[in-house]
Amino acid sequence: MKITAVYPGSFDPITNGHIYIAERAAAVFDEVIVSILVNERKTSAFTVEERCFMAREALGHVDNITVDSFNGLLIDYVRQKHAGVIVRGLRAMSDFEYEFQMALMNRKLAPEIETFFIVTDPKYSYVSSSSVREIFHFGGTVEDVVPDVVYEKLKGRYNAGR
Ligand code: ADP
Repeated sequence: MKITAVYPGSFDPITNGHIYIAERAAAVFDEVIVSILVNERKTSAFTVEERCFMAREALGHVDNITVDSFNGLLIDYVRQKHAGVIVRGLRAMSDFEYEFQMALMNRKLAPEIETFFIVTDPKYSYVSSSSVREIFHFGGTVEDVVPDVVYEKLKGRYNAGR
């Protein structure tokens, strides 16, 4: 039986920490769908099209990963994709509480879907999309924690007015 996993998130933008989790998930599951959440109530730095483009470029080297976007309830989307697993990444204990709550809520709503946690590489444990945007904005180095496509996009976005 083929198992498809959905790796959902904002990916605003995708970082090497996300890529690490997606690659490891791809080594475990037959298909992995990196699914970018379109959340009208949350303002994002990049449009969903830009986020999808960056994720596709950054993950194009892995055959069994596709990139998609979705809105609404995650479990509805997971069912629609006939996926049995939700993948999430853990960086630190601080992620755990939120992730644990969400996993329990999703299990209550959809007992047949499993949440699967993958622990990050220590070198990415401090990396988040928001810290990348902030550090870049204030002139810090981010090249080593984002793929090239994201670095170029950040330069276009934040250096335009400099
Ligand atoms: P969300 O808004 O859903 O938290 P994110 O794009 O911030 O979306 O994160 C998506 C998933 O990737 C979450 O499970 C998050 O914990 C995980 N993640 C984010 N950054 C990293 C990282 N540096 N290493 C491992 N996992 C990460």
